[in-house]
Amino acid sequence: MDTDRFRHQSFSQLVLFGNRRRAEIPDLVTQLGLHRCLVLSTPEQRRDAEALAETLGQAAVGVLAEAVMHTPVEVSDAAASKARDLRADSTIGIGGGSTIGLGKAIALRTGLPQIAVPTTYAGSECTPILGETADGQKKTQRNPIVVPAAIVYDPELTLTLPARSSGMSGMNALAHAVEALYSPERSPLLAELAAEGVRALARALPRVVDAPSDVDARTDALYGAWLCGTCLATSEMALHHKICHVLGGLFNLPHAETHALVLPYVVAFNRPAVPDAVERLAGALSADDPVGAVFDLAGAVGAPRSLAELGMPQDGIEPAVDLILADRYWNPRPLTRPEIERLVEAMYEGSHDGAPG
Ligand code: NAD
Repeated sequence: MDTDRFRHQSFSQLVLFGNRRRAEIPDLVTQLGLHRCLVLSTPEQRRDAEALAETLGQAAVGVLAEAVMHTPVEVSDAAASKARDLRADSTIGIGGGSTIGLGKAIALRTGLPQIAVPTTYAGSECTPILGETADGQKKTQRNPIVVPAAIVYDPELTLTLPARSSGMSGMNALAHAVEALYSPERSPLLAELAAEGVRALARALPRVVDAPSDVDARTDALYGAWLCGTCLATSEMALHHKICHVLGGLFNLPHAETHALVLPYVVAFNRPAVPDAVERLAGALSADDPVGAVFDLAGAVGAPRSLAELGMPQDGIEPAVDLILADRYWNPRPLTRPEIERLVEAMYEGSHDGAPG
């Protein structure tokens, strides 16, 4: 029972949510006592970053449009030097997990506070987690210094995220809530957050994919993403996240697509060990069969159906199994080599029936 005994960690953040709230960023900067903000983005979102810097006027010291996926340490070291050279007193990241990751990496090196303006559903803005890549290996750490001081969620900024990327990003968010439901830190608050996050994403994502310019659907999806990001911030992730980290690192598979494909398999695998959590998931999805419902939702938003289709080589199955079993994450169902082999083979082939459940 969630209410008998639990541990809950929360982080202090100001959250502004709603359409056009980006217009309030200059006031927010003043309220936070910041005067020299370095605006961050990927090269693809440079124009958004420049537009934001323009609204900040004198309070912006520059735009650094150099964020890239998986936060390579060379990029972060150079960005931290640039922030020091410009005597920035803060960063504002406008973008997805890659841009927010760069702000976190700068914070780790310099202690500079951050404002996050998320434009995907990945949820990094809520968490004390930073994954950095060095020598081809991505390592993740938790450190409260990287938690952004404020988040500004403006659904209009997500309108330009292409439909399929939106669906995949939403499935990435859903995975945070699913694994929070059975995490060792589950608490009454976390269980409610996770269930509400699942409800919001399950109703919003098909609408977002069908009509990417529907602001109401975008608002609902971003609301769900915030809840799911908060789940990620406060709970330990399990087998699902471990598999995605291993496959992303080994084969450079796309982050959100991998989450969308893997999730129903892991829910089926863990179901016998956590029937209460899976029942709560079923309730949130309004489904008798939660595994089928997650599988159908992933399909409805365009998820790939096999690791082969995503580009994983067949001779990669054994090395992936080795790494999933090495340096294990916590998981409610114990992992055995034969079962993990069957699980990865089934995901490789896209054979739902062949997976252990
Ligand atoms: P991303 O930030 O890499 O963005 C993908 C692409 O989409 C980029 O080119 C970006 O500029 C573009 N984009 C983003 N928003 C857009 C928009 N609204 N309109 C048009 N283009 C847009 O993708 P992501 O999935 O958000 O982030 C993935 C990264 O975040 C991974 O490295 C992952 O490990 C990390 N992540 C970290 C955490 C954490 O808590 N530390 C949580 C989730 C993800």
